[in-house]
Amino acid sequence: MRRTRTGDQALIREINLSIILNALRDHSPLSRAALAVATGLNKTTVSSLVQQLIEAGFVTETGVGKKSTGRPGILLQLNPHAGGIVGVEIGVDFISVVLTDFAARVVWRHQERTDHDQERTAILRRAFVNIDAAVEQAHLRSLEILGLAFGVPGLIDLESGTLLYAPNLRWENVPLLAMLRERFSFPVYVDNEASIAAFGETFFGVARGSSNVLYVSAGMGIGGGLVLDGRIYTGGSGFAGEVGHMSLDPNGLPCACGNRGCWETVASQSALFRRVQECIAAGNKSTLARCYDDRSASLTIPVIVRAAQEGDPIARQALYDTAKYLGIGLANLVNVLNPEWVVLGGIMSLAKEFLLPVIQQTINERALRWAAHSTHIVVAAYGSDACVMGAVAMVYDQMLRQPLSRSRLAA
Ligand SMILES: [Zn+2]
Repeated sequence: MRRTRTGDQALIREINLSIILNALRDHSPLSRAALAVATGLNKTTVSSLVQQLIEAGFVTETGVGKKSTGRPGILLQLNPHAGGIVGVEIGVDFISVVLTDFAARVVWRHQERTDHDQERTAILRRAFVNIDAAVEQAHLRSLEILGLAFGVPGLIDLESGTLLYAPNLRWENVPLLAMLRERFSFPVYVDNEASIAAFGETFFGVARGSSNVLYVSAGMGIGGGLVLDGRIYTGGSGFAGEVGHMSLDPNGLPCACGNRGCWETVASQSALFRRVQECIAAGNKSTLARCYDDRSASLTIPVIVRAAQEGDPIARQALYDTAKYLGIGLANLVNVLNPEWVVLGGIMSLAKEFLLPVIQQTINERALRWAAHSTHIVVAAYGSDACVMGAVAMVYDQMLRQPLSRSRLAA
């Protein structure tokens, strides 16, 4: 029976460590006495566990707090230098890597453009080179890597961490988690980019503390992530959230997934660019015409936004039409899910000043008014960084949930 009791004690210790770490994340700085009140644990237990967390480098003492009676209490906070976390996103046309400290502050970042026609192995090789660079940067700062999470725009088999299908990358059956585990000894996680971003926005982004959040990532395609009752909603087989492939136009354009008229064929960055291109091809005057005439100027979201700000009618109309379709899809989703927050992320969120008012108006016109009125539509706090920062949040959350999985506390 002794073994069972030891197991129980380890479990209780882990739960209590997790409670203390989470209390410090939410309310720091706190004195030991305030921590005991906030967690409901007795003062002796708090003192002993805090001492272990200080020795392991996860918690640090910071100054002295005021106290109405008795001795002033020494304040505690999570130690920003406890370790480094790596967040990675492979997008349809880019790779993004960030390294943060334990306060989730970005201390190093790298982004590079890729071409989705590039070989999968070449793109993955670049991703690994950039991760190695992040690890090297962590070592230079004496930050031990606590973990890495990796987001991709596709369906993930959550059991094996295999990317089953990424239509816009045209990747199938890539054993991503196994590849990462082979290369790195620290904990690694793989998930869909929008699910990761949805989690990040509820963990320390714009919808922090909310339980019901729909995150929509609008870029080359459209991805969706759902946080329901505080956790990522994965669906029966882990494939929930593929909102970009809702059929919106039965006779619409072919989609990379094999269907036609999917939401992303009418409301993504590709749809926006197509609208601009069609108007210019039809002979309409626009400052954006140089993006097709002059090879040195390429069409991007910031270029379209600048043109719209300067009053270019083609840029404004294309943004309006795309926002309208974003609003129609979101009105359907608001009716189905009744989220507290709809968070718009991805590169398209850079055009928020033109998109959000039209999206909001379309939702008001088309969704049931009770659902529409109780939903806030906002842009992701981390904008186009929402996935990499969500990846950081995933590692952080795992660390705070299961602190004993880290060797420094395992003893
Ligand atoms: Zn599709």
